[in-house]
Amino acid sequence: QKPVIVGVVGSGLIGRSWSMLFAAAGYQVRIYDTDPSRMFQALEEIQLQLQDLDKRGLLRGKLTADEQFSRITIAATLEECVKDSFFIQENVPEDAELKKKVHAELDKYIRSDAILASSTSAILPSIISEGLAHRNRFIVVHPTNPPFYAPMVELCSAPWTDPEVMETTRALMEEIGQQPVTINKEIDGFVFNRLQSAILGEGWRLIRDNVISVEDFDTVMKHGLGRRYAFMGPFETAYLNSEGWKVYSERYADTLHRIQKSFGEPEKMVGPTLDKVQDECNKMVPMEKLQERRQWRNRRLAALDKLIKDM
Ligand code: NAD
Repeated sequence: QKPVIVGVVGSGLIGRSWSMLFAAAGYQVRIYDTDPSRMFQALEEIQLQLQDLDKRGLLRGKLTADEQFSRITIAATLEECVKDSFFIQENVPEDAELKKKVHAELDKYIRSDAILASSTSAILPSIISEGLAHRNRFIVVHPTNPPFYAPMVELCSAPWTDPEVMETTRALMEEIGQQPVTINKEIDGFVFNRLQSAILGEGWRLIRDNVISVEDFDTVMKHGLGRRYAFMGPFETAYLNSEGWKVYSERYADTLHRIQKSFGEPEKMVGPTLDKVQDECNKMVPMEKLQERRQWRNRRLAALDKLIKDM
């Protein structure tokens, strides 16, 4: 028989999205948060989002919006949230000490065959799970925000995680419609945030040195590199742009090596460049319009998702 209950710990931005993803795939979801008002807020928001997705024909899975919503319930205690769950997704704020504390508590209540997953963006799995009795059941499942529209998830085991946990989590992510990738070794920032950091870091230096404006840098990404990256990665792109990687290397290895050696030192994102970036962004999207712009972004992501699925 299929295991049916998923525990979601922390009902903020990410916890809400995970709840919707699991409910859309037919799982019963139990949410827990130390702040009860956040849980009620989460339920309200999820209901509105489901109705909105339904209206726009973007609902996931085969269940109606009401059926999906009825699968999500609030747990009164952490124990109630996780004791019967076969999979637990933790989404508390990004603070190593807090995550360790929450996982030590979860450790007391979970089934010994359950999988304990954390949404952490950059804390290593061995740091969170080292002291747990069930540390062999722990894995990082780091989503892209918003997970509902951006399906890539990074999976990273600790050295002591059972190999079966990685396999089962990969299969579960595929089943609920996400696109898992396996990070073979623990590394700071995993891969998503290392890449994001490399792009922001180089952008920062180019803007600081007056090579380009903030707006034009973003244009390079969204109308240049990003256009193809939405459906084809950089390695395949290079492979297609020449007659395979051997030819690409013959043609461009020296140039790319020269450019890579010219990258400056990492710089903390503070000081005069920070003022410049903030001012230019504020001209593009005034601060009071952030929420409106986020909603616009989610609609565009949903449309892109549909386009890509139809390819
Ligand atoms: P958030 O602040 O929106 O939500 C955190 C929730 O956890 C809050 O509702 C809070 O009340 C609750 N909480 C705090 N302590 C708790 C406890 N002891 N037990 C249960 N609940 C508790 O944060 P978020 O943006 O949803 O981020 C959650 C995690 O997801 C973080 O680790 C973050 O790094 C990761 N993540 C975030 C993003 C993003 O872009 N927001 C993307 C990927 C991963």
